[in-house]
Amino acid sequence: MQNMSRLSAIRDALAQSPENISLLLLFARECLDEHNTAEAREIFEKVLTLDPGQIDAQLGIARVLYAEGDLSGAAVRAERVLQGDPNYAPAHLLLSRVCLGEGDKARATLHFDRAAQADVTLVDPALERELGRTVRDARRTGPILPPESVFGDALFDADSGPEFFDDPYSGDPPFEWRPETFYAPGDPERSRVTFADVGGMDELKEEIRLKIIYPLQYPDLYKAYGKKTGGGIMIYGPPGCGKSLILRAAAGEVSCNYLSVGLHEIFDPYFGSSERNLHQVFETARANAPCVLVFDEIDSLAMDRRNVRESQLRNLVNQFLHELDALRSDDQRILVIGSTNQPWLIDPAFRRPGRFDQVIFVPPPDELARTQIVELFAHDKPISGLDSAKLVGMTEGFSGADLKWVFDRAAELTLSSAIHAGKSKPVTMELLMDVAKRHSPSAASWFESLKSQPQFSNEDSLLKEVRSFMNASKAK
Ligand code: ATP
Repeated sequence: MQNMSRLSAIRDALAQSPENISLLLLFARECLDEHNTAEAREIFEKVLTLDPGQIDAQLGIARVLYAEGDLSGAAVRAERVLQGDPNYAPAHLLLSRVCLGEGDKARATLHFDRAAQADVTLVDPALERELGRTVRDARRTGPILPPESVFGDALFDADSGPEFFDDPYSGDPPFEWRPETFYAPGDPERSRVTFADVGGMDELKEEIRLKIIYPLQYPDLYKAYGKKTGGGIMIYGPPGCGKSLILRAAAGEVSCNYLSVGLHEIFDPYFGSSERNLHQVFETARANAPCVLVFDEIDSLAMDRRNVRESQLRNLVNQFLHELDALRSDDQRILVIGSTNQPWLIDPAFRRPGRFDQVIFVPPPDELARTQIVELFAHDKPISGLDSAKLVGMTEGFSGADLKWVFDRAAELTLSSAIHAGKSKPVTMELLMDVAKRHSPSAASWFESLKSQPQFSNEDSLLKEVRSFMNASKAK
């Protein structure tokens, strides 16, 4: 019943804008979920007449065929999609299901692995159960494939199986470590978020450009001025202010390799293994330079050795310092960016020149940044009477995540009332203001907890910017 109301709400919205591709796709997917394959096919075909290259619609037709039991038709369509974009995870997932339907579990597993490597957010618990394999298994043990080498006939040719497992870093030495997030230039998965999706942080954006984007664009100029590429930037600040977001955006912005390291990829209970893992991370970055190497939540890896009792952890911190120094010794063309909510936990040795010599505070967004963020969140959304300036004025101290919550919550409440009313409705400015009024800035507790840190009272230069920020906020 609810689904029917949802369908009719989308149908109403389509009556207003019949050529809105996102709405058409949403509607077609809903039809498919309702097993209404005829209407789903009609809508996907309509999208393709509006935009023949629309990949979701192309795969939509393959999904319709699969739902109708035409496995070979679905496979042909999905393979065609992959010829255009070898890393399109949903097509691999569909092919995995097709292969499983045809009783070919080995090939189903290959496609599943490829989907999982291309997009870890894709989940299909039913398929995982049938294959006895999780997305995590696939990402840790499956082959790493450079995007351009992926399919073509190789995967579908039974004799070429072993080649598929070739290490793309086939130079020497072969690395045991397989990064979970490694994007080569041109990888379609990496370009979704760019600096344009991040409000504010102009200083940080420019630092990243100066250290890796411009040197690659203007190598001769950099040579002429004797400037090296890369270096270290550490960013810190309260939660929800976009640190992780800008790290992701760096991937979409730079035109070189990008490697993001998860802590679980480093820590290992066996003696010496964590250091070796960390070394392999840097080796991989070196082998793939120029490269951006990203450590989110760096405080767990770069902790202050004075607070660490276990020698194993101290060795890991020493290893990290050693790797950063090794990068400095030559123009390694690697930009290392670390981010943390708890800069006071980090060993001061990391802030020495040549290591993380740029330490940048990411505060809650100021008025200009909030304006940009509000515009980003409001873009393309059905909102009536939006008054950005008013919303920005009443959200002083809100982080980007707080603002996101306001928009998400207002959209959720509007959707619920649209479903009950059986017709689509826009989010109203009144609702946005009402939700914002009831929300308190989440960064406040971070600033409060900071006051108890010794570095706050002993005037350590690390927190200088935060102190100025707090004084300026108090003076307002
Ligand atoms: P934490 O330290 O808790 O990981 P963080 O500072 O890394 O927090 P993010 O995880 O990047 O914050 O932010 C959460 C979400 O809030 C983002 O995915 C994004 O939707 C939104 N957001 C935060 N800051 C911004 C910003 N400056 N511009 C646009 N969106 C933002």
